[in-house]
Amino acid sequence: MAKQQDFAEKAKKGMQEKGTKCPKCGSVKTPTMYVQSVRTPDGTYRFNRSHVQVCKCNEKMVFA
Ligand SMILES: [Zn+2]
Repeated sequence: MAKQQDFAEKAKKGMQEKGTKCPKCGSVKTPTMYVQSVRTPDGTYRFNRSHVQVCKCNEKMVFA
């Protein structure tokens, strides 16, 4: 059982370290699916989906 716990701890740590740190704010960037509605010339909307790396610098923009 102890071995399993060690492994879980290591896996957890590995996940935490995997994120890229933002040099500006120092927080770890989280990959997030960002859906943006874009108006086309015909007056309809379509959705642009993109993966963005969210940190404190742009979270307000993404989650607004
Ligand atoms: Zn940042």
